[in-house]
Amino acid sequence: MPLARLVYTSLAPGAVSSRDMMEILEVARFRNRKDQVTGLLCFANRHFLQVLEGPPAAVCETFYRILRDPRHVEVRLLEFRHAGNRLFDDWHMGFAGVGEISNDLVAKHSPTGDFAGLAAAPEAAVAFMTALGPLLSSGNLAPTA
Ligand code: FAD
Repeated sequence: MPLARLVYTSLAPGAVSSRDMMEILEVARFRNRKDQVTGLLCFANRHFLQVLEGPPAAVCETFYRILRDPRHVEVRLLEFRHAGNRLFDDWHMGFAGVGEISNDLVAKHSPTGDFAGLAAAPEAAVAFMTALGPLLSSGNLAPTA
């Protein structure tokens, strides 16, 4: 089955509570499971960074819905490409917030040393999320299969 990977960043227009995030994740996980979409959503300092992977049409349709969502602005596509394999095949949407995002890992991958700087470097953003995935543990907002 052909697979696509899409990476984007965006900005929350205001504060995002744990409850807001749970609402996003609950719908995302329900839809993604049905559509065979997997990935990881990171959120820190009002910046979202998300990777979506799965059948190309499903990834596109998911991204079109995400683009229209008023809960974020300045959506910026970093990468959309064919993928040989899934990086996050167990997660219909993993999540990492400030508590899970390692500052050392951000500093290692971001050209500016901060989370927002990953938006300027698509390859670094994917490398960052690939390295972060195995470090994530279970918890209230943590990934579920
Ligand atoms: P409906 O539920 O019919 O909603 C209609 C419109 O209202 C849509 O534009 C919707 O975006 C918006 N909306 C829905 N709930 C709220 C709310 N509480 N407050 C304000 N506006 C709202 N969806 C996925 O399927 N997979 C993902 O991986 C995914 N990741 C996301 C990541 C981020 C950062 C955000 C902000 C959203 C994400 N979503 C994801 C949610 C996605 O944007 C859609 O809301 C969802 O897919 C349902 O789409 P729908 O067209 O059925 O919208």
